[in-house]
Amino acid sequence: MEFEDYIRGVVAAEMPAAFDIEALKAQAIAARTFAYANLIQNGGSGCAKHKGADVCSSVHCQAYVTKEERYRNWPASLANEYWSKLTQAVYETKGMVITYNNEVAKHIKYHSTSNGKTENSIYVFGYQEPYLVSVESPFEEGTPSFSSKVVMKKEEFIRRIKELNPEVSISSSNLAKQIKILEWTEGDRVKTIKIGNKTFSGIDIRWAMGLKSASFTINIDTKNVTFNVKGYGHGVGMSQWGANEMAKRGKNIVRYLSIIIEV
Ligand SMILES: [Zn+2]
Repeated sequence: MEFEDYIRGVVAAEMPAAFDIEALKAQAIAARTFAYANLIQNGGSGCAKHKGADVCSSVHCQAYVTKEERYRNWPASLANEYWSKLTQAVYETKGMVITYNNEVAKHIKYHSTSNGKTENSIYVFGYQEPYLVSVESPFEEGTPSFSSKVVMKKEEFIRRIKELNPEVSISSSNLAKQIKILEWTEGDRVKTIKIGNKTFSGIDIRWAMGLKSASFTINIDTKNVTFNVKGYGHGVGMSQWGANEMAKRGKNIVRYLSIIIEV
């Protein structure tokens, strides 16, 4: 497959085509950088789940859709316009990748929506990169996944906690007193939380409770446990909705790239 055509399929899968063209260009550059760094012929490690493949087409690496698949999910009246917009975003950034210290950046990350700040990669992936630190990500308050709520019965909460760690000692009476957020990350996400006699990571609680992110607070009333959640995704790297909000305010992605190399 032609490399840039693959990138177009990734942008089609990873970002709504209704987004601003500058956001789509940012996504194209992020997707291209990730793919390029993964290429086995470039010394990349390929996809860890599919031996011998450079990348896979699931969220494990980055999602990819064919033109036919994409057209099926777009309103027929907009499909041609959307496809040419994606083509423009990819071909106007053709060959552009993100570099750090004159090398193609190895760990390019992106996520749907931040909570107002991006996350330092150390808290999510266990490694640090100078370009994956926590920074302000403004303008996202009005976007669809900025705030969400998950409500469940106390008993359901306890069931899920016990599934996570069968040795946890917890009871539904005085539940609020048995839950305490211990530490926050730099990006204002829950790092550790004590529940009963055990300590959990915010990320484990996110997955166990079906939360959109680890940026949450908890309210407990007589019957229910309510999670108030901010943002969507791990929070590392580029916020896609944040990029779109910046683009709508006239920001131009290519201006921010210090070094561009042809790949
Ligand atoms: Zn993969």
